[in-house]
Amino acid sequence: MAFVITDPCIGTKDSACVDVCPVDCIHPRKDEPEFAQTSMLFIHPDECIDCGACVPACPVAAIYDSPDSTPASQKALIEANSAFRAGDAGTLAQAEAIVKAHVSAHADLMGIAPAERAAAHAK
Ligand code: SF4
Ligand code: SF4
Repeated sequence: MAFVITDPCIGTKDSACVDVCPVDCIHPRKDEPEFAQTSMLFIHPDECIDCGACVPACPVAAIYDSPDSTPASQKALIEANSAFRAGDAGTLAQAEAIVKAHVSAHADLMGIAPAERAAAHAK
């Protein structure tokens, strides 16, 4: 199991989670070239140690503690987290395609300010 970043990160992407992650499994970091090209950040599921440090650091409650606890409206983004690998243009394109499809499918959520979006996930 691993933690999962979801859509409140889109439009926020402040990297607060990166700063507290003890194993550097959240990417892209601000110093990585892909940072400007991705809509959100992603947690590498094989590297995450489930410590939970990123959850309270996130100002918009974008992070869920497992794929199982990720709300139905956010399930597609589990694969985006899983796909992305820093330094790999192919996985960046794959992850971004998933994110863009999610944005297109959830105009309702995208119309909500990032800080309020997580509250709407369960509705
Ligand atoms: S749960 Fe811990 S290891 Fe996993 S992404 Fe969050 S801070 Fe990093
Ligand atoms: S702290 Fe939250 S909004 Fe900021 S980059 Fe991490 S997941 Fe995205």
